[in-house]
Amino acid sequence: MTGTATGTATGTPAVPALPRLAPGSTVGMLGAGQLGRMTALAAARLGYRTHVYAPDAAGSPAAQVSAATTVAGWDDLDALERFARSVDTVTLEWENVPVATVEHLRRFTTVNPGPHILSVAQDRIAEKSFVNRLGIATAPWRAADSADDVARAVTEVGPRCVLKSTRLGYDGKGQARLDAGRDGDAAAAAAAAWAAIGGGKPGVAGIVEGFVTFACEVSVIVARGADGQTVAYPAVENRHKDGILDVTIAPAGVPAETAAEADRIARTIAEALDLVGVLAVEMFVTAEGAVLVNEMAPRPHNSGHWTMDACASCQFEQLVRAVCGLPLGSVERVADAEMTNLIGDDVLRWPDLLAERGARLHLYGKAEARPGRKMGHVNRLFPRR
Ligand code: AMP
Repeated sequence: MTGTATGTATGTPAVPALPRLAPGSTVGMLGAGQLGRMTALAAARLGYRTHVYAPDAAGSPAAQVSAATTVAGWDDLDALERFARSVDTVTLEWENVPVATVEHLRRFTTVNPGPHILSVAQDRIAEKSFVNRLGIATAPWRAADSADDVARAVTEVGPRCVLKSTRLGYDGKGQARLDAGRDGDAAAAAAAAWAAIGGGKPGVAGIVEGFVTFACEVSVIVARGADGQTVAYPAVENRHKDGILDVTIAPAGVPAETAAEADRIARTIAEALDLVGVLAVEMFVTAEGAVLVNEMAPRPHNSGHWTMDACASCQFEQLVRAVCGLPLGSVERVADAEMTNLIGDDVLRWPDLLAERGARLHLYGKAEARPGRKMGHVNRLFPRR
């Protein structure tokens, strides 16, 4: 059976037809971290095999639980072709896989999410422009290619703002905060922030975003199949520590209309991207109840790990279903949940967590617990509110 993607009003290219892949087929996975690992585990449960491809795949969290591993560069065309020919479809756990890599793979097999989605998700300016074109709000922002641009942007987007590198930032990395009320010499502060994100180095571009004084941060995870079928998990609240996700509370304790607006935004973006796969949309909720998009990732997301223990089908299973051309699973929430990340040495608490009644421990098989490194997470379930 074959599903075909529908075109969209925004004119994004339709993905190629995706055949229904039967259990026993092999899913190629670009990237080898914990998201790849948990996808491979979900794939295995449904009878699929996973073949991981990444430059750093050897002994990686995903390789430990996959049927096959290729350790090769994103630009190794021969290795990519061999990999593509050895699998039945390809997906990814890291949105920064070079677009050229995915375009090369697409000569031999289906790859979802497709390159047009990666180009949007890899660049904060492309991402915010795309979202704004859909009529969805973000923090005010300006592109900045020099310290002078940063200084000018501060006068335009507001005295408190965040300078971010447009590409490859995550967990608060590649970011510097500015506060005209605090900084004193505005030009010197702009220059320092520009230097802090690596401004001036080849390929580094910046975006200045107005600082949002949010009441809370929420995210919605959407899965969309090749036939356009879309399901979304309820909006969850995310609390960060040092720029890294610390706790996710599912569902978010926001008014129903705020949750509905977050859901509408995430579905609108997935539709407009003509997504096949899973998309996470992170948003700010202001004290007035406005919902602003912060960023998105076309893959399973840390704020969706609670679905592994609290939903009929988890986000990783949804990805496998979507890229294998299967019907999506139920997002029904069988319990409320709180997910806590185990960062760095937090993982040393594993004996206590194992002993804690009802705590569901997930460890990623990483040998070294460096500060800031995501080593695992724990889900705790509660009766539905
Ligand atoms: P990001 O890498 O963009 O997800 O940023 C990491 C975290 O920094 C976010 O989850 C927020 O807690 C905070 N942050 C990022 N951008 C802004 C902003 N424009 N205003 C306020 N806080 C922000």
